Amino acid sequence: MFGGKKIKGIAVKGSGRPAIADPDGLKAYVSGMTASIREKADSLHRNGTGGSVPYRESVGDLPIKNFAVGSWPEGAAKIAGNVYGELMKRKHLACFGCPIACAKSIEFTDGDYRGLKTSQPEYETIAALGSNLMNDDPEELAVQNMLCNRYGIDTISAGVVIGFLFECFERGIIAKEDIGRDGINPVWGDNGAIKELLRMIAFREGIGAMLADGVRRAAESIGKGSESFAVHARGLELPMHDPRGYVSSAVTYATGNRGGSHSESLAYYVEQGMKIAGMGFPDKVDPHSSAGKGEITAKMQNLSAVFDALGLCKFLMAGGVGPEELCGFLKSAAGMSLSVRELLDVGDRMYTVKRLYNQRLGAGRGSDTVSERVTREKRGSGGAADVLPDLELMKDELYRFRGWDREGRVTEEHARSLGLEEYLS
Ligand code: SF4
Repeated sequence: MFGGKKIKGIAVKGSGRPAIADPDGLKAYVSGMTASIREKADSLHRNGTGGSVPYRESVGDLPIKNFAVGSWPEGAAKIAGNVYGELMKRKHLACFGCPIACAKSIEFTDGDYRGLKTSQPEYETIAALGSNLMNDDPEELAVQNMLCNRYGIDTISAGVVIGFLFECFERGIIAKEDIGRDGINPVWGDNGAIKELLRMIAFREGIGAMLADGVRRAAESIGKGSESFAVHARGLELPMHDPRGYVSSAVTYATGNRGGSHSESLAYYVEQGMKIAGMGFPDKVDPHSSAGKGEITAKMQNLSAVFDALGLCKFLMAGGVGPEELCGFLKSAAGMSLSVRELLDVGDRMYTVKRLYNQRLGAGRGSDTVSERVTREKRGSGGAADVLPDLELMKDELYRFRGWDREGRVTEEHARSLGLEEYLS
């Protein structure tokens, strides 16, 4: 939306500090939790988000070769987060006050990039530019991550559009001459091609101008059946959680207010066994069954909206912070006494006001979709070889749980119950 309005960003400046309702109580509440958060999220601390690459490969959550392949254990092991600690000098970094410290700075100690200091790539980047492109070189991945940061381009979208291009080339839909620059070999795992394509996307050169507009528009201009393997939801390239590994991701992406974004619900946390007290989820959740996932996803969308509004990192959930703890923070920080139910209603309100905006622009059942690649094609290998999400079933459940109609439209009754009737068009 910012891009459409030619806005680069919004800067807010203020003086003074927010008043804390109960400073001593807040300090005691937070320090009582710190050790347990740190302990529960220890794997995030040790190897960062990238530490989960081998696990995600084993359960079919890791996208491989433009989401076409279900298994690549040897490649996943080479690009996992722990490898950076073995190959390079590495330091733990934390956002202000965070006990988890999942971020890592790295320094190359050998090879062509000796002396280069940069960041360890996050899981999403390792998957998007790594397994998704059959790139098993951790050092090149770190450099590509650094280039994306310098160019100001998103690593997920970049990895998905480049994967799409590689598949177009493999299928003979585009030729080398279409790239618009000599010497590029657009084949899986070619790091020279990946780096040059990142540059061409950033500067909108040659085929980079088309790729810079995203995978949906690229498929619309190329045609020839390429739409079926252009992996996106509502035009936003899918993040690195394959909906055939954790099926809730299909309905998360389809109903995401900004399109294919995992962090608008993180319902796959529940499918991978995370316990979040106060949410009323079943003890055991089958990651491959679609039944019940519409409701779980809607509840997680509401919880995630609350985390966003409080400016809290959702990795705290891995440290055992759920809605009950958020109610405790709010009580001591702002003096607000909310039940879990009331807190999640606030999340519902935030989620729904965005849906109402999208609804004015035509959003509904027909546009709550995800690419065929991840909803209709079985991968035939790996930890979720034969799994396909039942997206329509999950949409029905989510719409029902939210009190929307069968077409995915917010009803007047639901909008009124949240005090949002003024936004009904
Ligand atoms: S706040 Fe979140 S992203 Fe930042 S270091 Fe902590 S866990 Fe990592």
